[in-house]
Amino acid sequence: MKVVVVVGGVGGARFLLGVKAALGLPPIGEAGSPHEVTALVNTGDDVWLHGLRICPDLDTCMYTLGGGIDTERGWGHAGETWTVKAELEAYGAEPTWFGLGDKDIATHLIRSRMLRAGYPLSAVTEALCDRWRPGVRLLPMTDDRVETHVVVDDPDEPGRRKALHFQEWWVRYRAELPAHSIVPVGADESTPAPGVLEAIEQADAVLLAPSNPVVSIGTVLAVPGVREALRKTEAGIVGVSPIIGRKPVRGMADACLTAIGVETSAEGVGRHYGSRQTSDEGLLDGWLVQKGESVDVPGVAVCPVPLLMSDVEATAKMARVALELSGVDVD
Ligand code: GDP
Ligand code: CA
Repeated sequence: MKVVVVVGGVGGARFLLGVKAALGLPPIGEAGSPHEVTALVNTGDDVWLHGLRICPDLDTCMYTLGGGIDTERGWGHAGETWTVKAELEAYGAEPTWFGLGDKDIATHLIRSRMLRAGYPLSAVTEALCDRWRPGVRLLPMTDDRVETHVVVDDPDEPGRRKALHFQEWWVRYRAELPAHSIVPVGADESTPAPGVLEAIEQADAVLLAPSNPVVSIGTVLAVPGVREALRKTEAGIVGVSPIIGRKPVRGMADACLTAIGVETSAEGVGRHYGSRQTSDEGLLDGWLVQKGESVDVPGVAVCPVPLLMSDVEATAKMARVALELSGVDVD
């Protein structure tokens, strides 16, 4: 079976652990299997810092599925140390608000060196995965530079607006500066990375992880050709709500939804993704929402299930329902 999962970082990576388990694969690592999971990963969070190319969502997926993640934080290496960060701060090197761990820096050094040598991000990711063996194919949504920017009132100059890199808005300002708009800069001119459209076309099932609907899933969908491929694929498409009871389970996705005028609720996000059957732009055939919530998304099969990814077993159950709702037989 070929399964495509559209993902961001922490929420996406945890969901992938469950998808693998639902298919009988070891959640962490690699094992021979007739099933093939391809993750289409958001790269709109990517940023150059201190001359290094950082790809937060790709790395979160790679470390999580490769068994190297700090499970408490949800991002970065287990057993990380911070010597380089402290030294950079001693030099007064900006920015100081981004946590770059020593072990993590090795990943960024290799990636940056390969990018500068001319390798596309998809090839670099494949090379990094040679070490981590995540057991799923991690495909960046594009090899082109796409960076999400957030337009806010300039905190330093009242009356003026300013565009911040998504990371600065999210990490430095904790999404507390109200966003006028959120723009995936460069997406219009980008093309999907090699393999992305083929994976969608050949999929037996497509799942939208409970990732941030705006800056994770929304950014992948902003790459020209991706939405069209999803609308055309013969695979059923099922999404999972990252919102339970009008709140994101973790993080500040509500600030992103408010910025694009979407209500923070499973119904709001489901309607935002829309029905593949009854709307011109919509994507969903099925939509998983929290058990007990009554949600109506016209033209979409809404299925209430326990939606907390508290451990791999709970996540696998949820992923299994998603796969079945998409029309495939999981056994
Ligand atoms: P990021 O790139 O690291 O911010 O992670 P993602 O975009 O992949 O996922 C973030 C989203 O995951 C947030 O909006 C959370 O609400 C959602 N999320 C986190 N944990 C859970 C969970 O246990 N269940 C569900 N349904 N959503 C979750
Ligand atoms: Ca992210």
